[in-house]
Amino acid sequence: MMSSTAGAAFSPVSEFKQTCGFCGCVFRVEIESPISYKDTHPYRCPECRHLCIVKTSSEPRVTLLSVRTDRRKDLHPHH
Ligand SMILES: [Zn+2]
Repeated sequence: MMSSTAGAAFSPVSEFKQTCGFCGCVFRVEIESPISYKDTHPYRCPECRHLCIVKTSSEPRVTLLSVRTDRRKDLHPHH
């Protein structure tokens, strides 16, 4: 379990919304560093922990916007 303390210093330069293809929840991904073509960082769906990768040089921040729609409680099988 990660700390839930909000990092006040976090200032994203880019963000996008994503709908999880596994559970159907919607979440925002904020990227603090510019898109990088040599570094990648993983981030996880906040509901089912489905792993995604983004090309950036620092760890993305994920914020849940709407809960999963699949009515399951399963985690993604490949998390
Ligand atoms: Zn998910």
